[in-house]
Amino acid sequence: MLFTSTTVDFLSRANLNLLGVGMTRIYHAVRFKGGTAYVLFDGCNWNCSFCVWRKVTRWSLCLPLETRRKLDYMWRTGRVRYLSVNEVVDLLKKARVTTAFLGGGEPTLDPELKALMRALRREGIKPWLVTNGENLDDEMVELAEGATFSIKALDDELHRRITGAPNGKAIKNFRRYAGTGKLVAETVFVPGLVECGEIERIARFIASISPEMRLRIDPLVQGVDIEKVDECIERVREILPKADRIRVKGSVEPPEVLYPEV
Ligand code: SF4
Repeated sequence: MLFTSTTVDFLSRANLNLLGVGMTRIYHAVRFKGGTAYVLFDGCNWNCSFCVWRKVTRWSLCLPLETRRKLDYMWRTGRVRYLSVNEVVDLLKKARVTTAFLGGGEPTLDPELKALMRALRREGIKPWLVTNGENLDDEMVELAEGATFSIKALDDELHRRITGAPNGKAIKNFRRYAGTGKLVAETVFVPGLVECGEIERIARFIASISPEMRLRIDPLVQGVDIEKVDECIERVREILPKADRIRVKGSVEPPEVLYPEV
């Protein structure tokens, strides 16, 4: 039988969801040297034209290409399944994880997210959401140690062009939760689409609500012009002093794959 991704989704991943109480849409987790983990949820309600998770890899970008290829093969042949809340907690507990970044994909779409966050809290593991913010609610914010809230564009027409969705609900949620002190804003510098002018508008919007908030400006993975991004960061800092990008010094040790086993 020829296994296609769709066949496998139906036969293994989705069916397990029907059978299993407490089954999440988590299919991948890695642990970094410092004790943090990145946990990936399958699926997203938006369809960003530059989405790394959709267009480049569904696995941690910090893994070597060879490992990601092996994982791709395992995914195509049905050897990756969704994990239950208990399985995820056990996995992270055994690996002595201190903070679990919950992203993907979009974690807030998972009906088991809050149960997972509560269970992680009980084990002393801090849950940190990485989200587009559209479905964020009071309980999620309450349970989260923090949330990286991605603003793709402030201009609604541009937002629809990038993501296929309006930004009204996400922006409303940003305003609602900015005062909790738990949000870190993030945006992506996309040449020809989200350039510095739009990022300055985003920064002005954030500064009008929370001038001390951090804003992470990610260079687009598929075609990085770091110099242009750094010039932009300098401009944005005049509006929002805590704007920056992730800076990596030297070579990065790849994380340990906690699931699936390779
Ligand atoms: S919101 Fe994030 S995960 Fe969803 S499509 Fe956009 S970049 Fe990808």
